[in-house]
Amino acid sequence: MDRMWKVCAVCGSGDVTFANTASGWLAGQEYMCKNCGYVGPLLIEVDSEEKERMQKRHKAASGKGTFK
Ligand SMILES: [Zn+2]
Repeated sequence: MDRMWKVCAVCGSGDVTFANTASGWLAGQEYMCKNCGYVGPLLIEVDSEEKERMQKRHKAASGKGTFK
């Protein structure tokens, strides 16, 4: 069985951390992607194959980016 990864919905990076929002618990939990700078509530869960596909797609779209 393949392991699942929680990755950035924008670039597919697994390098995602919690973001502290000023309005605290009322705002709900948000995440920050260290790769593309995305901040928001959305993380998606994918297998390693889909994770790689997303990263390639994002890399092609942005023309740059760190690849892990
Ligand atoms: Zn990202």
